[in-house]
Amino acid sequence: MTTYDYLIIGAGIFGLTAAVELNMRGHSVALLDPGPIPHPLAASTDISKVVRMEYGADEQYMAMVEQAITGWHEWNMRFGMVYHQIGVTMLTRHELEPGDYEYESLLLLIKRGHHPDRLEPDDIRRRFPAWNADVYVDGFYHARGGYAESGRVIEALADKADVEGVTLRAGRTVNEIVVKNGRCQGVHTVEGETFSAGHVIVAAGAWTHILLPELAGVMQASGHPVFHLKAPDRYLFSPPKFVVFTADITRSGWYGFPYHPDERVVKIANHGVGQTLHPAEDERLVTVEDEHTLRQFLADTFPALLDAPIVYTRRCLYSDTLDEHFWIDRHPEIAGLTVAAGGSGHAFKFAPILGGLIADAAEGFANEWLPKFAWRNLTPETAGEEPARFHG
Ligand SMILES: Cc1cc2nc3c(=O)[nH]c(=O)nc-3n(C[C@H](O)[C@H](O)[C@H](O)COP(=O)(O)OP(=O)(O)OC[C@H]3O[C@@H](n4cnc5c(N)ncnc54)[C@H](O)[C@@H]3O)c2cc1C
Repeated sequence: MTTYDYLIIGAGIFGLTAAVELNMRGHSVALLDPGPIPHPLAASTDISKVVRMEYGADEQYMAMVEQAITGWHEWNMRFGMVYHQIGVTMLTRHELEPGDYEYESLLLLIKRGHHPDRLEPDDIRRRFPAWNADVYVDGFYHARGGYAESGRVIEALADKADVEGVTLRAGRTVNEIVVKNGRCQGVHTVEGETFSAGHVIVAAGAWTHILLPELAGVMQASGHPVFHLKAPDRYLFSPPKFVVFTADITRSGWYGFPYHPDERVVKIANHGVGQTLHPAEDERLVTVEDEHTLRQFLADTFPALLDAPIVYTRRCLYSDTLDEHFWIDRHPEIAGLTVAAGGSGHAFKFAPILGGLIADAAEGFANEWLPKFAWRNLTPETAGEEPARFHG
């Protein structure tokens, strides 16, 4: 039996970026996933994910996205256009005030040398005519941001991993992590196989706390609705008139994307409380009530989309930590085991730097950004800290 230096469970963005990075660092790496890769139920598998620097007053996240965006441009050269830097509009129904997500983001952008455009209702009417500027009265446009075609990124990374020598094994579902005398030895699969490794990385997304029940008290799977709409007027909903947006997001959860040139839809989703679900056992349904809430939002935000047909829906799962920060660290009690999960609905944008973070954690190397994601004590009273999220 081959013993790999690193065995990674899960071929989403956490697992694949870690595999590519550790392989590049000269380690033998295997990656297991039920497959196919991209897995249809994986959070990473989608037509688009927001790439934004705006994290309120949280300077570490903004600095991390600044670096990630440099990586996205490099990936565009390597993988073709997977990141579209079309900019973001972050609009509110009230004048911005200190403490607001948008206000604090604006201040930090300016402090770090970026050039956002503050928008008043007349600017909104002129530059972004799909918006109801009688309701949305303040906010800004920032050019350095946009969206990444996440499913295509997963495909490109899986190809890269394969070509560069990572052992990719689809059709494998891990059901047990083998630990002897406090050290992880490898895994068993549902398919009846055993894989041996010097170090195992659990990057199983919303399934992570099922594989490692000791995490069930600090992370859970939460389901969030996604809608694809057929836009009546694609030009009104295309850049530069319409870009990635947040619509008073900390009070509503609503955000979305412009007309997707290949998929021919406008995608709108909600970054809110979500529905706690079991990742393997519960149905992932978008309800009539969800659709009704969407229509209410469209009615006073994008009137031209009010009656647009919904052509696809999905309830997608976050690996949600209680404080909404990622969980990237070695297991405190089991040697040779690392957890890389807890994306909490906002990790994909960091993809170009994620592999380095996870590899540093697994190898025990110092990394200025890792303390935020270290193994930590959280309680049911712990509050979510992702500044853009709607907490009900
Ligand atoms: C609706 C929604 C919208 C989002 N929007 C954004 C956004 O706009 N911007 C952003 O930055 N982020 C966004 N995110 C967050 C981002 O998508 C996730 O943080 C990220 O994709 C998580 O990656 P992952 O690798 O941890 O998990 P996943 O992509 O879910 O991958 C986990 C993998 O583990 C595999 N697996 C599970 N169990 C096992 C097992 N037992 N054995 C082997 N393999 C297993 C699965 O098959 C899967 O392929 C969003 C997430 C959702 C759900």
